[in-house]
Amino acid sequence: MEKIRIETDLSKFVQQVKEDMDRHNIPYDNSYPIELYEKALKILGTCRYGEHRITIHKEFFLCSPNEDLIRSVICHELIHSAPCCRGEGHKGKWKAYANKMTNLTKNEAHVYSIHRTEKMNLLKYTEKTHKNGYGIYCPNCDKIIGIRLKKTRLIKNIENCRCGKCNCKELQVKIIDLETI
Ligand SMILES: [Zn+2]
Ligand SMILES: [Zn+2]
Repeated sequence: MEKIRIETDLSKFVQQVKEDMDRHNIPYDNSYPIELYEKALKILGTCRYGEHRITIHKEFFLCSPNEDLIRSVICHELIHSAPCCRGEGHKGKWKAYANKMTNLTKNEAHVYSIHRTEKMNLLKYTEKTHKNGYGIYCPNCDKIIGIRLKKTRLIKNIENCRCGKCNCKELQVKIIDLETI
């Protein structure tokens, strides 16, 4: 998919989201830096407490024509950063603020739709050259537990990895057709 914006546009989006959140009294931690990353295939954003930062999927940000979705993803992660929402997951205070933001912006210039999961098929945002990916398969769970577009260190050292769900050590790498996921 074609890039329709540049990396430095991110700060403009973040500014818009923070202004919208301020107006509706939605809390966030202003000290969390928000950065672009290119890692997992399907996750649009993450709030990493340990690293004290928020990451947004790079290709998604650069290519998505849906500005409301971009702002919603940034807002989703910013709510996680609020001290009162830490440890709440997608429940409790996080859920209350997500619903509040969604309800209050229905008729505004920036419409937010904040859901528990902000996942989608990112294939259309990735390079056309990636027809195949490396699936990490857990035989015990009997499913693909992760996907990498490139032969990362994890893929090369799969024998040292364990399944995050069942702790299985017999993980396998399977070449998968990205068009089918
Ligand atoms: Zn979340
Ligand atoms: Zn497993």
